[in-house]
Amino acid sequence: MSRPIPDFDVIVIGGGHAGTEACTAAARSGARTLLITQSKDTIGEMSCNPSFGGVGKGVLVKEIDALDGVCGRISDLAGIQFKVLNRSKGPAVYGPRAQIDRKLYKKHLQEYLNGYPNLTIRSGSVADLVMDQGTDQHEYEKVKSKGAQTMIHGVRLDNGQIISAPNVVITTGTFLGGEIHLGLKAWPAGRLGEQPSIGLSKSLRSAGFKLARLKTGTPPRLDGRTINYEGLAIQEGDQPPMPFSYLHKTVPYADQQILCHQTRTNPAVHQYIEQHFDQSIHIRETVKGPRYCPSLESKIKRFRDKTGHTIWLEPEGFDTHLVYPNGISNTMPEDIQRNFLRMIPGLENVDMVKPAYGVEYDHVDPRELRSTLETKRISGLFLAGQINGTTGYEEAAAQGIIAGINAGLSALGRPPFILDRSDAYIGVLIDDLITKGVEEPYRVFTSRSEYRLLLRADNADMRLTLKGYEAGVVKDERWAHFDRTYVALRTVMEDLEGLKMSVKKWSKHGIVSGSGSEITNDNGVLRSAMDLLTWPNVSLDQFRELVPALDHLDESLKERIMIEGRYKPFLKRQALEVAALKRDENLRLDINLDYANMDQLSNEVRQKLAVVRPETLGAAKRVEGMTPAAMVVLMKHVRRNNRQLEESSSRLKSASGMA
Ligand code: FAD
Repeated sequence: MSRPIPDFDVIVIGGGHAGTEACTAAARSGARTLLITQSKDTIGEMSCNPSFGGVGKGVLVKEIDALDGVCGRISDLAGIQFKVLNRSKGPAVYGPRAQIDRKLYKKHLQEYLNGYPNLTIRSGSVADLVMDQGTDQHEYEKVKSKGAQTMIHGVRLDNGQIISAPNVVITTGTFLGGEIHLGLKAWPAGRLGEQPSIGLSKSLRSAGFKLARLKTGTPPRLDGRTINYEGLAIQEGDQPPMPFSYLHKTVPYADQQILCHQTRTNPAVHQYIEQHFDQSIHIRETVKGPRYCPSLESKIKRFRDKTGHTIWLEPEGFDTHLVYPNGISNTMPEDIQRNFLRMIPGLENVDMVKPAYGVEYDHVDPRELRSTLETKRISGLFLAGQINGTTGYEEAAAQGIIAGINAGLSALGRPPFILDRSDAYIGVLIDDLITKGVEEPYRVFTSRSEYRLLLRADNADMRLTLKGYEAGVVKDERWAHFDRTYVALRTVMEDLEGLKMSVKKWSKHGIVSGSGSEITNDNGVLRSAMDLLTWPNVSLDQFRELVPALDHLDESLKERIMIEGRYKPFLKRQALEVAALKRDENLRLDINLDYANMDQLSNEVRQKLAVVRPETLGAAKRVEGMTPAAMVVLMKHVRRNNRQLEESSSRLKSASGMA
């Protein structure tokens, strides 16, 4: 008995940062998509900090933009201070960041989503998943071939209504079994004033998923009119600001960028909080919080020798007096929060408008996922965002776009879209999650990537837009823009590569490295203008007369060429390492492999592989505890398997020839 046509091809649950990327990506693929979220009004809510990007995170935003995602372009519209972090450390680790007007972000995002082709949005709360083992031979085969146990058919809302779809993406953030902590008080909620998601948590658990608890927290909100800014350090934005989106040359509030200020905690604050540690249930260490964005209590406990911690006072927008004190998330009772705030320079008379609080929630072990973010257990079910144990808007959005693209492609019967560690930080993030799992909330750092020189903020479009276009998830406007950029860059870079002369001759054009030693060691070797860009004192403008096309390039494209030139020899070396990675990534492992009966592997390795079930030899290599001996066993298995496949396909061919 075949099923009736489903109501939608893809349902996305949750309108946060993962959900908004997932639903638009699925819709761009051509799939009929439904976004269902607790309240349409909270779509695009920034639960914590009013900012996007930063070190590592900024590259994620650029990558999402390169795939035609939403958070970069909306951040540009709502950004009130733009700054590239890590400028002094080199372009490989530049971290584009923007301070965001919270209300403007929600407004622009909601407007952008309304009327998005193929996308329907409705308010509602999903209480359960609808799934079974398949109703006909075709469905049984599909479930079996994926090594899954069941397949998804839709969702049931808390009012009992069932909406059907063969692909569902869950992006419920901190709402799964969410519990808020404020001092010694605790109550169920996903965010302050919002219902938690209890039913969904239960249905995942009863489907066999391994769930664990994590926690995070947010600082109090202050009334900026009661802050004394005199004497506090100022942080200004960059002028001109650098937009996130490759589609934008500038941003609407370029000339009205706001100032942020800096203050610090002090020993008196630390002592006061420490005296009241027993008044917060959140600080128990049984549940892990974000190590790299710790609460003030954790910082005081962990860094005992530090006499102060920096606080950034960040305005939440143009038409609000609210200020976000970045760096002091905590879960102390309200009166204690008010008291310690007033012990901080500049905050002596401050009014606390909303208290800080913590939230503890369920997350799913991300080793349950494939690199498409589809679960191995339930065919057609995808998970993205904080539910997978990550923290941060950008990490959530990055997973959302991949889950959404793949849910859409799966609905349309097209091949999956997978990014590996050499393609993007998105690939690094997903690979880390699915091969290593999480012990604490995961966030992206540049140090997590082996290919930092390759995965830069400036070149995300060159790495990803073509891939996205080929998968059918990059719209024409973006494609046309990318094509123009590509041609402009390639034309000039080819001219620079083609312009070759000996160092002596270059010196006649006034282009020298500064040390002079290379002129005596010249030996007549020809060097291209691109090669010369590795010399620290050589700038692109020095080639203007010889390469007239340079005059037609705007400054941002010139900077990109400079970066390519500076890193040229290192990029060449990294390309070889990438080729080795790709070789391993192309060796597929069956995710249903019977590790329990692979006697040549140690017990420990068997157990680890059985949990992760890596999809490729490359992924197996990255499973913690893998040994060279175990890799040899797997390699032999892959070779034997490939040989058998080849033999059976040639048998089939010759059999059909005989027929
Ligand atoms: P969210 O943005 O949380 O979106 C979840 C969405 O799902 C919401 O729209 C919700 O209404 C909807 N939803 C939930 N359940 C259902 C259901 N059953 N049916 C329909 N819709 C549903 N990150 C940091 O990087 N640093 C921090 O310091 C930090 N502090 C935080 C403090 C707090 C208190 C919170 C709540 C979050 C904090 N975060 C922090 C995390 C950051 O907000 C998240 O990483 C990011 O928002 C996750 O995005 P998401 O899309 O996964 O989920």
